[in-house]
Amino acid sequence: MSKTALITGSTSGIGRATAEILATRGMHVIVSGRDATRGEAVVAGIRAAGGQSDFVRADLRDAASATGLATDALRLGGGAVDVLVNSAGIFPFGPTADTTEDGFDTVYALNVKAPYFLVAALAPGMAERGAGSIVNVTTMVAEFGAAGMGLYGSTKAALVLLTKSWAAEFGPAGVRVNAVSPGPTRTEGTAAMGEALDQLAAAGPAGRPGTAHEVAEAIAFLASDAASFVHGAVLPADGGRIAV
Ligand code: NAP
Repeated sequence: MSKTALITGSTSGIGRATAEILATRGMHVIVSGRDATRGEAVVAGIRAAGGQSDFVRADLRDAASATGLATDALRLGGGAVDVLVNSAGIFPFGPTADTTEDGFDTVYALNVKAPYFLVAALAPGMAERGAGSIVNVTTMVAEFGAAGMGLYGSTKAALVLLTKSWAAEFGPAGVRVNAVSPGPTRTEGTAAMGEALDQLAAAGPAGRPGTAHEVAEAIAFLASDAASFVHGAVLPADGGRIAV
């Protein structure tokens, strides 16, 4: 029986590319996001290529929305979700003094609270079955200080620590938990950045932004059995930006 993978934020960018790759590797992929039109288009593309996919609409903002998505994914997976990729995220940048409380809470709700309660809902079932893989999508700016990126970077720094904590909590039961830390990547979400994305990427050895597909390949590796001895790792897919 094929494995079931739930990929949040897969109506766009890195999440969509991950869904497409996992589908070509024989997984039943559950595509999720708020935008049903984009989601159904991703599902249609996967099915047209011979893959198995379903869309679940979810606006991830609290524990209830995360638990609801997990419940729908479990139903579609016949009672099991084998792979969870937490890719949904927002990345507002700006001065600390300009941040509103609502803005602060919104970023933490999607980037930290939703993955937290998705893992709470799905990891125990994986542990009971003795197998599972969770991949969190973080960012290079969780690793170093950057002006105007503190709020966003801090949410992903929390996710880095949670990745290691969950590896400790669920790893002994056969559930691997890892993270991919992308650098500047061309997606719908960064389209508005234009040349600023190139400037951000210029400092790394690759000297260019990555593609969603390049980052998704790293996620797919960690999600797969090829990474069977990898627990609690944060794999940079950033053109070498944090290495230099
Ligand atoms: P993107 O193209 O903007 O896609 C973001 C995804 O998140 C979309 O599928 C969106 O779906 C979903 N989403 C947004 N708000 C949501 C909500 N409230 N509930 C549920 N889903 C929601 O972003 P991306 O560039 O692929 O980024 C993906 C991940 O990589 C993020 O976690 C980001 O922080 C991280 N990352 C990106 C870069 C980069 O340069 N692109 C670099 C480092 C890290 P809907 O619009 O359909 O809701």
